[in-house]
Amino acid sequence: MAYTFSGGLDLQHSGKTPAKNVTVLTGVERLTLTVPDDAELEPCVSAGDHVAAYGCVGSFERGGARIPVYTALSGKIERAEPGKNGCITVIPDGSDEKQPLPPLQKPAAELSPDEVTDLLRTAAVPCRGSYGYAFERVRAAAGGTMRFILNCCESEPGVYSRRKLIEEDMKSVIDGAKLLMIALDVRRCEIAVEKDAPYYGAISAAARRDPLFELHAMKRRYPQDEEVAMIYAVTGTRLSDASRPERSKCCVFDAETAVAAYRAAVLGVPYCERIVTFEDNNVLCPVGAPISALLDFCGVDPGDADRIIDGGPMRGRLCKTADDPIGPLTDAVTVFYPGDGDIPAMSPCTRCGRCVAVCPSRIMPYYLAENSRKKKYAVCDTYGVRACTECGCCDYVCPAYIPIKRLIRTAKLRVEGSEE
Ligand code: SF4
Ligand code: SF4
Repeated sequence: MAYTFSGGLDLQHSGKTPAKNVTVLTGVERLTLTVPDDAELEPCVSAGDHVAAYGCVGSFERGGARIPVYTALSGKIERAEPGKNGCITVIPDGSDEKQPLPPLQKPAAELSPDEVTDLLRTAAVPCRGSYGYAFERVRAAAGGTMRFILNCCESEPGVYSRRKLIEEDMKSVIDGAKLLMIALDVRRCEIAVEKDAPYYGAISAAARRDPLFELHAMKRRYPQDEEVAMIYAVTGTRLSDASRPERSKCCVFDAETAVAAYRAAVLGVPYCERIVTFEDNNVLCPVGAPISALLDFCGVDPGDADRIIDGGPMRGRLCKTADDPIGPLTDAVTVFYPGDGDIPAMSPCTRCGRCVAVCPSRIMPYYLAENSRKKKYAVCDTYGVRACTECGCCDYVCPAYIPIKRLIRTAKLRVEGSEE
């Protein structure tokens, strides 16, 4: 029987949907490199400087460590503005000049847990949407009992970037997972993959060849790739908040993290480019490239778009303009054209409970949204707003068209910001 979780949606996203192979984005005229909303950018370059591809241009603080910011393309620094909302812009020069990370002093397989942890931070590899992941704390708290799940489940319908990464770079997924095992100091990696994924056979053969791996066949259900849902499906442990692996004794990392770890260790490539799905295209994009460059590359005039979403239809966020930069976690771009339909008018909540039934984080979306609208953020914190993973299931089922996810996100930002 395939593993699954409670809540979520049975969205008809066929594992067999065709998606084109990965191509490389060209014609980028400017990179805009930013840092997370609540972080301060500290540039290490100035306007007029020249940088090689994979060169470091700045850093920001996260979890007590400095996380570097890299450029995927060589070029000239146009602007370098420090602080919150700061940014660095690079005008690419089209050269092949590269400045990879310093080579390792020993084979990757012989690195210690601390050395792999340092490598992940040095290469700015995001782990479950965060940086500077507290591997040391996790190792100390788990006392050798941590379970490591490698998430190879697909994301939301219409987003194929993880599928293409796994299909086209399976060896990096497996070898990168071994590096994450070192960082976590665990002896086993449990791979979670949907039974109907097109790459199920290949990954299951790879797992069978190596006793370090165990395969879990998952039922396709959205959002199966969320940490809370996955831990429940695989271990039976129900959490309201999986952000603390010390508590859950379980770490979930995505296939993207494994590949990024491998590329940093073996190829010296820091994390500054990623595969982005747009319609049936899958394009390797430099982080910081304008979304308009991706649309142009795929033959779509950005001026034809009515709304552009950074992400898929369920988890994505509305872009301000077509020139918003592709971020380190942008897995897809979704475009709505005139005639695709307006956003329906919102009506009062009827307490139908549908949002509660689908919420995989087991919180009360309607109650949190209502208190966020009233700016009662302390109440939102008490009722578990931080556990929201912004999966969008509540928005999808709400018959009153209340923008629940957006309201909850506002409360989350206020609650998390007020901690500092
Ligand atoms: S689904 Fe919408 S209408 Fe129903 S309880 Fe939730 S917020 Fe209210
Ligand atoms: S409240 Fe958050 S976690 Fe729950 S369904 Fe809505 S978006 Fe998903």
